[in-house]
Amino acid sequence: MSDFDDLKESLSARKAQHLYRTRRLLAGPQQPLQQVDGQSILSFCSNDYLGLANHPNVKKAATEAITEFGVGSGASHLVNGHSELHHKLELALAEFTGRDRAVLFSTGFMANLGTVSALVGRGDAVIQDKWNHASLIDAGLSSGAKFKRYQHCDMPSLVRQIESVDAKRKLIVTDGVFSMDGDIAPLDQMASIAEQTNACLMIDDAHGLGVLGDTGAGSAEYFGLDQTRLPVLMGTLGKACGTFGAFVAGSEAMVETLIQNARSYIYTTALPPAVAAASLASLEIIKHESWRREHLNNMISMLRAGVEKIGFTLMPSSTPIQPVLIGEEALALSISRQLEARGLLVTAIRPPTVPEKTSRLRITLSASHTEIQVKQLLEALSDIFQGLSEQDLESLDAARTRVSLDEIS
Ligand code: PMP
Repeated sequence: MSDFDDLKESLSARKAQHLYRTRRLLAGPQQPLQQVDGQSILSFCSNDYLGLANHPNVKKAATEAITEFGVGSGASHLVNGHSELHHKLELALAEFTGRDRAVLFSTGFMANLGTVSALVGRGDAVIQDKWNHASLIDAGLSSGAKFKRYQHCDMPSLVRQIESVDAKRKLIVTDGVFSMDGDIAPLDQMASIAEQTNACLMIDDAHGLGVLGDTGAGSAEYFGLDQTRLPVLMGTLGKACGTFGAFVAGSEAMVETLIQNARSYIYTTALPPAVAAASLASLEIIKHESWRREHLNNMISMLRAGVEKIGFTLMPSSTPIQPVLIGEEALALSISRQLEARGLLVTAIRPPTVPEKTSRLRITLSASHTEIQVKQLLEALSDIFQGLSEQDLESLDAARTRVSLDEIS
């Protein structure tokens, strides 16, 4: 066996292309002011959109459940790992999303893999937005169904792809809110297209749940889409809920099919019951503390107004995901490092997560950010912008043109 010399070479090549990723060590809870790699830093890159990951009620629910139920669930749901707390959470999620039933998965990645493969296979087709999350793309590819991708949020392109394929069942799949872009899929139009073409619509609402809709029930609530118009609703609990895990909600028959057939549901350990208890506590806060969404929206408006004034290009987004388009990988990395030197954490998102030369600073906001903290970020971005070279400014301009051309094409 070799000493993996080929792997070492490809790792070095990755470093040379500014694409090498490293992990940071976080000490303490998820919150805006963090201890990262031994340093105090103000973070703008968490998905804890409502500030619930370290909420006292959520922690208390988890701690009490550990005392009563222990830590591990000990088995898969279909053996004997399905606790009363899992069951209660499934009922609460079905009610919250206005669906007949919901089933929990251990992660969102697994929910997508299991759901797509349980609903479509050989002889069927799965039709996905080009910018869907990696877990959906992998789910589509591994399902055995014909795999089609349409241009990002482009409805004529979606219709063309649906009509181009001959299949028994056609499943249209989209992110509700796009994870690296922050924009919202036109779900109302998609639901109508699904009806007209006899296709079935599925959304991954990882970034919409808790954030969008009057009660925080997500993208489906935002567009007023019930179970008939939007039959497969997947949501994750590790983002706005501040906990961990995921679920799929819909009709009795659809959910039961997942329980019977989704391999990533059947062949894995149920998530710890205490995590389900924590999610139940989060749901209560999401439903009753609408001020969190209001404050979050104020922070979003403040950030957008400030960034635009500085001269950076913001991508079109009204959600807590606010990407600043940079373009060149090296420049995105350099700005992210300059922010870090000023005590601010904003990740540079680079290929393969996003298309080449569309690297961006992915700023995410949370209901626990204060105005002062957002101001701090704006001041730092302004400072950095002033210090950019002519060449950097040209490269930002080029990225702006490139992305709007890409959007048109
Ligand atoms: N879908 C989307 C859109 C996501 O952003 C993520 C997580 N980044 C997932 C699915 C996967 O969810 P989880 O982290 O629970 O596996």
